Amino acid sequence: MTRGNFCSVLVTGANRGIGFELVKQLLGLPKPPQWIFATCRDPRDARAQELKTLASKHPNLVILQLEATDEVTIKAAAKEAEAHLAGKGINLLINNAGVMPPSTLESVTQEDMLSVYRINVVGPMLVTKAFLPLLKAAAKQSKEKGWCCSKAAVINTSTIGSSIGNPPSMNTFPVISYRCAKTALNMLTRCQALEYKEDGILCAAIHPGWVKTDMGTEKAELEVEESVRGILNVLSNLSEEQSGRVVDWQGKLMAW
Ligand code: NDP
Repeated sequence: MTRGNFCSVLVTGANRGIGFELVKQLLGLPKPPQWIFATCRDPRDARAQELKTLASKHPNLVILQLEATDEVTIKAAAKEAEAHLAGKGINLLINNAGVMPPSTLESVTQEDMLSVYRINVVGPMLVTKAFLPLLKAAAKQSKEKGWCCSKAAVINTSTIGSSIGNPPSMNTFPVISYRCAKTALNMLTRCQALEYKEDGILCAAIHPGWVKTDMGTEKAELEVEESVRGILNVLSNLSEEQSGRVVDWQGKLMAW
């Protein structure tokens, strides 16, 4: 197995935007993963239709119901994935699901701060906890030396807006709850990297660029295809050097 081959991958928030494109491009790789687990909040909803159509053509694509704020659904998704994997582990967990409601320092409320934190930080924490046994199994089963995404990795989706060292101005990026939550996600990533290092699991965060999705809007700089091509290329080349860090879709280290 080479570093660009991911045997089994899980992507959260995979029914649209960057998550959906990740699934599409993973399926189109010369050597696609044996299993791709694509989670969405409501597989019966019309918003999951494109993902369902894709799954009907690809037996290695499994849709799992997962709401990032509901640990019951997270644990059930991990159980279902485990049943499909029949003793094998999950190599790559991409915590992609997230929300970005508008909020300025004037308009932001307690509820807004807490709800965004629950989805964007507590969600990835719970998902990683639930899938940890499968990640550990993948690391143990792998012949890869060192840390890499084809062995076992957790990738959290961050943003340049979370940077304390090089932050975009509040005028250009007035989303206070989102920025604070993603900064906390960076610290979660760092803690995960420290803790799971001895299990052989690489943990890093990635900034996908400013991407044309529902969240990024039409004004964004990047087409989703380009961002995701970059992300998958970066993931293929991640090593322990970037573990615990935030890298962007082109592989550059981001300032904390
Ligand atoms: P989208 O808004 O297009 O998609 C968000 C995805 O997250 C959807 O699948 C959505 O599901 C899911 N989601 C939202 N809330 C929850 C929840 N409570 N539980 C489970 N799933 C949920 O966003 P993008 O694709 O643009 O963003 C993906 C990631 O990339 C996010 O983490 C975002 O912060 C990050 N990012 C994006 C940038 C951009 O420019 N687009 C820039 C920097 C970072 P549903 O359809 O059910 O709502």
